[in-house]
Amino acid sequence: MKTSKSGTFLRACVIVFGIYIALAWIWNSMTGTKFWTPIEMGISAVLTVAFFGGIAWLLTNIGMAVLCGRNPEYQQYRKDGGDPFFDSLPSAVTGGQKELRFECPVCSSPVQNRIDVCGRCGYGADGDSTAYFERYGDLKPVDLVDAKWAGIRDRRNL
Ligand SMILES: [Zn+2]
Repeated sequence: MKTSKSGTFLRACVIVFGIYIALAWIWNSMTGTKFWTPIEMGISAVLTVAFFGGIAWLLTNIGMAVLCGRNPEYQQYRKDGGDPFFDSLPSAVTGGQKELRFECPVCSSPVQNRIDVCGRCGYGADGDSTAYFERYGDLKPVDLVDAKWAGIRDRRNL
């Protein structure tokens, strides 16, 4: 299942709303006013998430298009409905519905990343990911940062 965009948006609004409500409560109890109402907080939370989330989403997608736009694997990832911004959000916001797109090369149970540690047989936990390379090739996974990728390759080439 893909990361749900509307669900993520709602969840982010609820989280921001919770923060705003806490701040409003502190402000109101400190000043003895009822300046910030829950309705205002709700509207502010939605606007905040829409505004800053929109900017972050734009920057992430433009950035990834500039960096990886010609990478065939990235193009395939986009064609499959992948979104680098939504897919990189913490699971607390996205509801933890990351799609398990890959299979453990040893026991075939689903794993999230192309190079991963298998949750069932534990393959990859000792740093040996050779079987993943043999199955999925030598291209850097788009969802992996460069430093981590270099580390995996180093271990593999020992
Ligand atoms: Zn396995």
